[in-house]
Amino acid sequence: MQHINITDMHVYTTRIPVQATHSHGSGDVSTINSVILELTGDSGHTGWGEASPWPVFTGTTEANAAALDKHLRPLIIGANALRREELLVRAEKELVHCNEAKAALEMALLDLVGKTLGLSVGQLIGGRQRDSVPVSFSVANPVFEEDMELIAHLYGSGVRLFKLKTGFHDHKFDLMRLEKIRETHGDSIKLRIDYNQGLKATDAIRTLRDMEAFDLCFIEQPTPRHNLEAMAAISHAIDTPIMADESVFDPREALIAAKMNLADIYSLKVMKSGGIARAQEIAAIAGAAGVGVYGGCMFETGLAHLAGAHLVSAIPEIDLGCEFYMPSFYATDDLLCEPFPVRNGAVHIPETPGLGIDIDRDKLQKYGI
Ligand SMILES: [Mg+2]
Repeated sequence: MQHINITDMHVYTTRIPVQATHSHGSGDVSTINSVILELTGDSGHTGWGEASPWPVFTGTTEANAAALDKHLRPLIIGANALRREELLVRAEKELVHCNEAKAALEMALLDLVGKTLGLSVGQLIGGRQRDSVPVSFSVANPVFEEDMELIAHLYGSGVRLFKLKTGFHDHKFDLMRLEKIRETHGDSIKLRIDYNQGLKATDAIRTLRDMEAFDLCFIEQPTPRHNLEAMAAISHAIDTPIMADESVFDPREALIAAKMNLADIYSLKVMKSGGIARAQEIAAIAGAAGVGVYGGCMFETGLAHLAGAHLVSAIPEIDLGCEFYMPSFYATDDLLCEPFPVRNGAVHIPETPGLGIDIDRDKLQKYGI
């Protein structure tokens, strides 16, 4: 087969309420807002992609919907889905920013090609190295008692990785929560924390020294994104591994981070990098620099989670788990036809063609805005 030409495309915007507001320092979240891209190929198959922007982190739904519907449409209609990288490079040249829209385009191309050829996305991007990845839940409810109940409930369902969002209130509140969680669950769970850029460079190291007592897997993005010197100084001073999230969006930033010894781990997110291929490039830079990588996510539906799950299935160095918990434990509903595959505390990567689960058109309509 030489061609799978794209004959039509549709762009939808959706909003799904969440179960409890989450505080993340950089902003509170009460809905999951997505731009859904549908591509039709002359093979008779449909490919689905998702852009899930967050204004304080990556961008807006309005900008990403317009990016796909207006600016990238002329490139997409008539394009050959089998020449994916060529199309993505053209998209990157013709439109700056809107990485989430480019991630949605790549996702839909992979889904369309996979369904046409009978291959999973994991097979199209290099082949899976593992069938499942442990899932990490983010503890971020400002009402901590509700989070303690939720942790106990998730523990019962097999979840053992928990990430506490810190720095959105005060340091004493963070210490109290870590103490309570360790008191209740001891070493039976693995804990990590994420400041979402919430600390000031002037006292970050002093604050983080207190946190080293809690046997944390990692401390994520303590200081603001562009304060690279502070991140490097913290990584040098603190024994607990430091993870860069907001400071490493794309391969170019990963290279700068590697040169500066900015962090011990980079968080990979298809929405930050503009898709799976660029996330794999970041992972390659990290691998060469002796830096770890982690499967992060934004506020996404199960569709973007599937892309992330295929990504982490294909990366050799993933060993800290992944975050694809939203449709299972956080959102009130999802856009997929079947439940997102989290079982016994792990994401099980689908083997069916394309992303592996289709969009439910009734739900697309129900949550459309
Ligand atoms: Mg983060």
